[in-house]
Amino acid sequence: MNDSVWQQGWWRNARHAFSPNYAPRAREEEVSLVVLHNISLPPFEYGTGAVEKLFTNQINPDEHPFFSVIHELRVSSHFLITREGEVVQFVSCDDTAYHAGVSSFQGREKCNAFSVGIELEGCDFEPFAEAQYQALQPLLTDLIRHYPIGAITGHQDIAPDRKTDPGHFFDWARLQAAGFPVVR
Ligand SMILES: [Zn+2]
Repeated sequence: MNDSVWQQGWWRNARHAFSPNYAPRAREEEVSLVVLHNISLPPFEYGTGAVEKLFTNQINPDEHPFFSVIHELRVSSHFLITREGEVVQFVSCDDTAYHAGVSSFQGREKCNAFSVGIELEGCDFEPFAEAQYQALQPLLTDLIRHYPIGAITGHQDIAPDRKTDPGHFFDWARLQAAGFPVVR
């Protein structure tokens, strides 16, 4: 069945790049939420490989002024979808990644505990690539089949005072039209 695409929380259709920035998911916790983000490193540059370096603690602070600001961050996401539609997975969905920070969804705080994070390579100021939607939808389909996910939301929706991603260029209506449970 569909479970064959999952192995201990790792999705077979992704390239795997292990991040040390995670914690075991609490035993009583279930994955009930997907949080969508955007990210680009350096800001507004694509295809640099720096996002993957950030999530695997390999940022070189000397390479770019911005990197000296962020190189000691210990953050991660379960998935990154590049502009070309490649899916990279950093943390098992059975574990907690560090993507949401201070956050609240329907009155529940600390969304990392019960969510999966998906970063779309991009920014708040331009549309995402068609290849990214083409990659996102099968990932969401497999996540929803495997985990009791009731909602897909944005980082900006669970941390509105701090975050603006994935931003207004993200096509939520497209996900809704495809039958995904968008809740914002
Ligand atoms: Zn975010």
